[in-house]
Order: sequence, then C-alpha cells, then structure tokens
Amino acid sequence: MREGLHKILSDDETIVAISTPLGHGGIGVVRISGGECRKIARQLFRSPRSSRLEHRTAEVGSWLGRNGTEIDAVVVTLFHGPRSYTGEDVLEISAHGNPVVLREIVETIRLAGARLAGPGEFTLRAVAHGKMDLAQAEAVREFIEAQTELQAKTALRQIEGSLAKRIHPIKQKLVDVVAHLEAGIDFAEDDADVPANAASIDSISPLRTQLESLKESFGYGKILALGFRLAILGKPNVGKSSLFNRLVAADRAIVTDVPGTTRDVVTETVNLGGIPLRLADTAGIRDTIDAVESIGVTRTLETASDADLALIVLDGSAPLDADDRRALESGGRIPHVVVINKNDLPLNIDLDALNGKHRVSVSATTGQGLEELQSILGAFLLSRKPDVTDDLILTNARQYEAVVAAVAALAAAEEALAKQVPHEMVLLDLYRALTALNELTGEVVTEDILDRIFSTFCIGK
Ligand code: GDP
Repeated sequence: MREGLHKILSDDETIVAISTPLGHGGIGVVRISGGECRKIARQLFRSPRSSRLEHRTAEVGSWLGRNGTEIDAVVVTLFHGPRSYTGEDVLEISAHGNPVVLREIVETIRLAGARLAGPGEFTLRAVAHGKMDLAQAEAVREFIEAQTELQAKTALRQIEGSLAKRIHPIKQKLVDVVAHLEAGIDFAEDDADVPANAASIDSISPLRTQLESLKESFGYGKILALGFRLAILGKPNVGKSSLFNRLVAADRAIVTDVPGTTRDVVTETVNLGGIPLRLADTAGIRDTIDAVESIGVTRTLETASDADLALIVLDGSAPLDADDRRALESGGRIPHVVVINKNDLPLNIDLDALNGKHRVSVSATTGQGLEELQSILGAFLLSRKPDVTDDLILTNARQYEAVVAAVAALAAAEEALAKQVPHEMVLLDLYRALTALNELTGEVVTEDILDRIFSTFCIGK
C-alpha cells in the first residue's frame, strides 16, 4: 500500500455499492471490492462454475437471496487482485436495471459481510494500491462529470497519467540538484568541489519555466472544466433575453415588452466548440428605484465582474443614452464585445460614439449576424488556449495550487542562491517544491487532500 495511506485506509473490509445510476434500465451493476469477494460469490451466486470463477471471465447464473431463492439472473465477472480496478479482488454483478432488485442484491452482500462503500471509495482503494495516482483519480471524476467531448478527451489523457509523466522528470532533476547541494554541505569542510550557485540556478530555472507553462495552462483549463462565463449586459429592452434565447436555442429567459422585468440572473450552458459556455442573462443595467429590480441590477454587476467575457447589448434602432453608456462602462472593465441588436430595424444609433470598440451587428429576431457573433466567441476562446506543443492542460484547482506552490518555492530558491544565502536555507525551498510536486501526484497524501478529492465522487466509483 502507498505510503501515507496506511493510516487513512487501515480497514481491509470488503465494500459494496451500486455502480450504475439509480433508475430503470437495461442492466444495473453492483460492484464489490475486497478480500471477501470470492467467499461472497461462492455463497450467493449459483452457476455450474460458481465455485471457481476465473479472472475476467463473465459467468451467467443466479443471484440468491435469503433462503437461497433466486433474486435475479445475473452475469458476474471476477477480477483477481491485483489485476483489477482497485488492486483487490473485485466482483462485478450485472443484474437487470431495477433499483429494487439492485438494492436487494446489495443487501444480501452486506449481510454476507461487506459494508456499503463511501463516495469514490473504489477509486481511493485504487490509489492506495498504486493502481493510479491522485491526479489520475481526479481525472476519473472529471471524466465521469464531463459535459462535452473535449472535456472528456482532456480528462482521459490525464487518466492515462500525462500529468505524472510531465512531473516525474522535473522531480528527478530537482532531486539531483538537492543531492548536489547536500553533498556541498556535507563535504564543504573537506574542501570538496562545492557546486557553484550559478550552476544550481541554471538547473533550477528551466524546471521552474516548465512548471510555469503548466500553471499558465490553468487559465484555459479552468474555462474547459468549469465553463466559460459570458454575461449579457445592457439596459432593459435592448433584446438581451431574446439574444440569450437565440444563443441557447431554447425558451428559458422571459421575453417581454415591459422594461426591466428580467429581474434575476438566468443561466444556461451551451456547448461551444467543446467548451461549456455558461450564459448569464442579467437584469438590465439601468438606474432604477424599483427595489426588487435594483437587487437584480446589483446581481448584474456582480455577474459581470465574474464573467470571462461580456456581451454589451445596444438597441441599434435607438440613439445611445445614459443607460447605454453605463452598460458600456461597466462591461468595459472586462473583455467584451459590443452587440448592436435589432439590425432588422432602421439604424438610429450613432456608431461613431462607440469609438471603434469591437462590435457586431445582429438581429435576435431574424437571427441575422448570429453566426458572426458565435465565431467571435469561438475565436475568443481559442485566444485563451495556451500555446503549448503537447496539450497537457491543468483543469483542477487543487493541482493548480500545488503547481503554484512549487513555482513559488523554486523562485525563492533561485533568489536565495543568487544572494549567496547558505545552502541549508536554499534546500528548505527545494524541499518545499518537492513536497508540492509530491502532493500534486499523490506521493504525499494527507487526509485533507483525500477529503477534498473523494468527497465529491459518486458512490460506486
Ligand atoms: P431585454 O429586456 O434586454 O432582455 O429585451 P427582450 O429580449 O425582452 O426584448 C425586448 C423587446 O425587443 C421584445 O419586444 C423583443 O421582441 C424585441 N426585440 C428583441 N430583439 C429584437 C430584434 O433583433 N429586432 C426587433 N425588431 N425586436 C427585437
């Protein structure tokens, strides 16, 4: 078992859970992991060969309940540890997809000595038995939760261990630098060949650069994982809700002729080139004395400051007024595109007053100009994509924090070396960097990290 996980994972109980979503379906899968699997199978599964199930061979038979009566006709597959997902014996029971039957099967297994698994506990055991590292476990969750193909593809690459592959050589080189410096300390009295500080800086600096480019990738990775937040701003009645509906192609936001009735923030996620685009249609930005509506306006401003990009919507059929200028001003604080809506009506807006801001002319009513707007959004997303040769992207805040900590520690070490600070102190920085990298992939595991990762997993994975 992996170091550090002993204490946390001291129990060697057999665990059981339903691994498929609860509902009626073609099949439902119950999964068991632990030392009791074979015993449980011998006790509760009946088939001509139930007493000697072979590794990875599907076997058809009956699952028995109390009194030995059949609960369901099932297919079981036994994976002999360590050649299984968790590294322990694993038994997968494919039954008919009926929640009542699946729960009954789980109950028979519980009575036979297993306990119910906690969230992500199968994956936790896989980490404990060295089947995967923590970053891979996180990627499993991201893969399960992916909403677009691009998210799934990125997560799959990480399940395959791309992060560890990138980090491992960096750690290796860092350990070399540490060894040199430590040797310098040990042998300094004997006047051995103490490495020059400049040489150490030269070894550390490229490692920091590599980690920095990984750190940068989180800007895009965060968008990929959490979605790209787009706020639609503008005074009431310019057509924000209509535009929002056009973009999501569904009737979610309320469209009305009375100004200021979209009082709350409505959000919807659409798939833009594989990236979830989270659209927030906000209450109009307008000076208002209506109490309820002003709550909406406050939220609007908050949503706008959170957004990755704002669409500032103006009514092209009417002259610019003070409310429009306010919308331009508040949206102007973040990256934005000015959308001149209602281009099916005669143009009355003074385009020169917009002093050349990036803008697009559309009609939410006819759909004209929407393709151009969408391609502007797509281009904006692409511009956020890091310019890296291979496409390893950090998508996870915990991993990002670990990389940030490692970069900071390496920068501190370089600075200390440049200032001729004693190597004992430099080594502390380098150890800090190593610890951060070890936490990243899970060579160092704390209960806190495990909690953070596995509390959000689903049961049965
Ligand atoms: P919001 O208050 O900014 O969300 O504006 P709405 O989407 O509720 O639209 C206000 C009014 O403008 C509604 O009557 C819409 O039908 C109308 N409208 C929205 N977009 C267009 C457009 O492109 N052309 C025309 N002619 N009318 C539009």
